[in-house]
Amino acid sequence: MKSNYTKILVATALASSIMSCNNSSNKMSENTNTKIIPAFDTTSIEKSIRPQDDFDGYANGNWKKLNPIPATDGTWGAFHIIDKENSEVKLRGIIDEVLKLKDVNEGSDEQKIGDMYRSYMDTIQIEKLGLSPLQNYITKIDNIKSLGDWVAVNGELQMIGVSSVVGIYVDADDKNSKMNAVKWVQNGLSLGEKSFYSGKDERMMMIRSEFVKHVNDMMTLCGKPNEKAGESLLAFETALANAQLSNVELRDPVKTYNKINSAELKTLSKNVNWELFASKQNVNSDVIIIQSKKYFSDLNTLLSNTNIETLKLFTFYKLINEFGYYLPKNIKVARFNFYGKTMAGIKEQKKRDIQAIDVTEGVGNGNIIGRLYVKQFFPESSKNKMVEMIENVRTVYGERIDKLTWMGDSTKVMAKKKLSTFTYKIGYPDKWEDYSNIKIKPNALIENILSNTLWNHNKMVSDIGQQVDKERWGFSPQTVNAYYNPLNNEVVFPAGILQAPFFNPNADDAVNYGGIIAVIGHEFTHGFDDQGAQYDEVGNLRNWWSNDDLNNFKGLSKNYINYFAAFEPIKGVHINGELTIGENIADLGGLTLAYNALLRSLKGKPEPAKIDGFTWQQRFFLSWAQVWHNNIKDEELRNRLQTDPHSPARYRINGPLKHLQEFYDAFGVKEGDKMWIPVNERVLIW
Ligand SMILES: [Zn+2]
Repeated sequence: MKSNYTKILVATALASSIMSCNNSSNKMSENTNTKIIPAFDTTSIEKSIRPQDDFDGYANGNWKKLNPIPATDGTWGAFHIIDKENSEVKLRGIIDEVLKLKDVNEGSDEQKIGDMYRSYMDTIQIEKLGLSPLQNYITKIDNIKSLGDWVAVNGELQMIGVSSVVGIYVDADDKNSKMNAVKWVQNGLSLGEKSFYSGKDERMMMIRSEFVKHVNDMMTLCGKPNEKAGESLLAFETALANAQLSNVELRDPVKTYNKINSAELKTLSKNVNWELFASKQNVNSDVIIIQSKKYFSDLNTLLSNTNIETLKLFTFYKLINEFGYYLPKNIKVARFNFYGKTMAGIKEQKKRDIQAIDVTEGVGNGNIIGRLYVKQFFPESSKNKMVEMIENVRTVYGERIDKLTWMGDSTKVMAKKKLSTFTYKIGYPDKWEDYSNIKIKPNALIENILSNTLWNHNKMVSDIGQQVDKERWGFSPQTVNAYYNPLNNEVVFPAGILQAPFFNPNADDAVNYGGIIAVIGHEFTHGFDDQGAQYDEVGNLRNWWSNDDLNNFKGLSKNYINYFAAFEPIKGVHINGELTIGENIADLGGLTLAYNALLRSLKGKPEPAKIDGFTWQQRFFLSWAQVWHNNIKDEELRNRLQTDPHSPARYRINGPLKHLQEFYDAFGVKEGDKMWIPVNERVLIW
């Protein structure tokens, strides 16, 4: 993710994006200048590899050699390159201009941007202040005497983004998507996902033992040396992990929708005062939605049986870790050494001034600098072009639904109804939020972060009991990503992704269809993936399928789950077919829709000429491969295999192609080639 602010859960927890927003927003440190990206860069091709055997290797082999992963990153591809240019050239330029201003009005966008940047660069002040800006909270943790105290302090700390065993956020009610609901979710694992606590292989054991050392180091650096700290925290979090649902279980929107009231919560968890936990963060709602009742009864046992010193340690570590990025150098480095080096294989931190751009961007969730960004860098003409492309995809999707052989007529009517009500957002929001309560000073970094985080929290609290604001965006305009939100039945394309190689006004159609149109198709297909298909045309969780059709859909999905689960990117570690099924369906659908949209656009026109020796069909698939070209560190790859709902880039490229006859035709793939699979094993869903 981009900013390092509050990250328990954003309102779009369910939304499916085109790529994961992992914490690898680190970018190369030297500057590059804006350059024109060729439509398809033939120097990316590795001619010694046959496209019929390994399309990614062929299309991107030379690119991979020419584009090693920078020392400051764990993975590197088209998304990261655009993102780097966004930050280090475009946002850098905006910030530099702001820093030159002599008189700025207190509270203006320019004042916030300039002073946030200054406060991050003021390392003398940061070192001098040490932990003191957090002292008030540290004292509260030190004074905890009982489980009741602990619950109260944890509730209060959530307002400033410190995670606990439960996270609270506000989002549309899945069964009444017009209204906001309060959702309580499992949370609190420092390693991210439960599988990191139970994995028996060498790497998982290494990560856990390094985590123990890391926690001990952090405690020493914070003046609380305790050689048992790491082990105690790991033991507690392991028990917590045991109580949690896996990331595959969390994909089931029906099982994870449990609406209860506070009386029922009390019976599930009689020793824990959850009402206090919520009221301390100003969340007052008798009705809440939880993912699992069992989690709350397990928490009752776990928290009652854990000694208070361990619980205090958990909370203290969460506080320091949450703010570690903004604290003095020794704490920041210790945090990076574990989460950056050990977990993600990143060798170096980005330079301070580059980090400062990211941190400055985070004010107002990226929107304060974002509204200056779109004025300078987003051509309004892109909006009209996008509307046209989105409507093309919608038309083609409708035609394909009509032709599906596995779906009956009554379900088709419903599917087309849903398709017709998809809404879209392009570029940037029509209205901006009120950022006046965010107070930024030039020499008080932690205070600034606290103010920004509290603003976010208060905004969330003010949504309780209100109708959902359908105009709101889950990403800032400069984000290089896109998403589908089933609760709004909407697709969202920020200005950031409407750039080459995704969207290139200078490119031939085949390249744009393999790029941005496949992205649009991908997001549309999320409306009909394993999760999206369970929501209706207004975004309510409601089954609109006939039994037979649902069984057919599940059967096709099952085949595609098994197909991906057979891939083994690291020896002994397979792709998790169930975790990645939504994204894999979306990639397959996106490619199919984009190809058919291109075909449709060519009707009645002369056959496009070859470019660089490639037919339009070949350029379409080369463009798809180019969008996903990527290098990744083994460590980062391993993490993502456990946590990322997207398959690794190489499998996103090659995986769906083996199911498309159009690909076989474009490159003359024959039986015996490695990109060939038997016709009866090919899966087409949408
Ligand atoms: Zn996606």
